[in-house]
Amino acid sequence: MSGDATPGAHGEAGLERGRVDLQRYSHALMGTYGEPMRVLVRGEGSWVWDADGNRYLDLLGGIAVNALGHAHPAWVAAIAQQAATLAHASNFFATEPQIRLAERLLELSHAPSGSRVFLCNSGTEANEAAFKMTRRTGKSTVIALEGGFHGRSMGALSMTSKEAIRAPFAPLLERVVFVPRDDEDALRAAAVAAGDDLAGVILEPIQGESGVRPLSHAFLAAAREVTLQRDALLILDEVQTGVARTGAWFAHQLYGIRPDVMTLAKGLGGGFPIGAVVAFGERAGSLLTKGDHGTTFGGNPLAAAAANATLDAIEAEDLLGNAKAVGEHLRTALAEVSGVVEVRGEGLMLGIGLAAPASAALAKAAVDAGFIINPPSPDTIRLVPALTLSVAEADTFLAWMAGPGSRIVLEAS
Ligand SMILES: *Cc1c(COP(=O)(O)O)cnc(C)c1O
Repeated sequence: MSGDATPGAHGEAGLERGRVDLQRYSHALMGTYGEPMRVLVRGEGSWVWDADGNRYLDLLGGIAVNALGHAHPAWVAAIAQQAATLAHASNFFATEPQIRLAERLLELSHAPSGSRVFLCNSGTEANEAAFKMTRRTGKSTVIALEGGFHGRSMGALSMTSKEAIRAPFAPLLERVVFVPRDDEDALRAAAVAAGDDLAGVILEPIQGESGVRPLSHAFLAAAREVTLQRDALLILDEVQTGVARTGAWFAHQLYGIRPDVMTLAKGLGGGFPIGAVVAFGERAGSLLTKGDHGTTFGGNPLAAAAANATLDAIEAEDLLGNAKAVGEHLRTALAEVSGVVEVRGEGLMLGIGLAAPASAALAKAAVDAGFIINPPSPDTIRLVPALTLSVAEADTFLAWMAGPGSRIVLEAS
């Protein structure tokens, strides 16, 4: 491959083939995502190559999805083997990979007896199922957080606060109340206002899409308390924070609380689409019962095999330990970069707070220099790379951030 150049060796000049492909893209696909940054053709570990042979260090990991990096051999083999054995069966039938995955999720989350899993295909779908569970409490008010993100279907969007993505689809589902992040008084007041109708509270332990913003321990404890008091469901959306991303299997384990319901997706399949809902305790089996919910693809053996391979590799390669260690390395070094005001998050879910609203310019310069990073808000860069990222790989980005990256932020401030 001609593309094994070091990062920084290419820019706008070497992008011929990709330009042609992007024209075809814009004539064939809906414009929902804006113009793609590049056309990618292959990946290996934390590296990807574009259609013009340029190489990039992938610090976005498909938005916290490629937990094992790209083309992890054990994951590839598991998928190939399952595809050649039994890829799909419909939920009229049970399969071993599906059963094993559900058992593993219960084990890893230390779920008490009675706990149950529902398998689906995405984060939105997992939250949609969780939303339906709140209705099965016989009540209907749900408290969600400002800055929270739960997905784009009408139910999940109804629990998502961002006005720009809600407004075009109004009216959304009623009886979702938003309170500011970390405002315990507002949370308690909203619970009191909901009275007997409080069905659930949904939140991300670390808000991802709004810029990697961890909730305080006190706020999570308050959410646990008000939901217990009012017999409502505490739903933790761990679609982004779950599956070792934070250096713990699930972020709520860092907070020492147990939700009633946890939703998962992004990293679970290591790049294969799959989502899951874990409902904890004796109540779990009665929240969604026969005929209440379903999905054709959910938990099919191919997706379940990909997820099992992902969980196996995380365990075998101690990727919890790696996420913690490399995350700490990045955090310490980034805090020293001038133009960086704070580093938020846990493990390999990091938000770099910038001194100026320069994240878009920084992300653009980074990709031209061979680093894929993400600007979720004007003053934040998000890093959610493969959990296999090495210190040496992280160092190539740190060197760029300390030099050209830092200058871009300082010039904008
Ligand atoms: C990405 C995300 C979702 C939506 O997941 P999709 O798979 O895109 O439907 C929901 N919640 C959180 C916290 C997410 O990060």
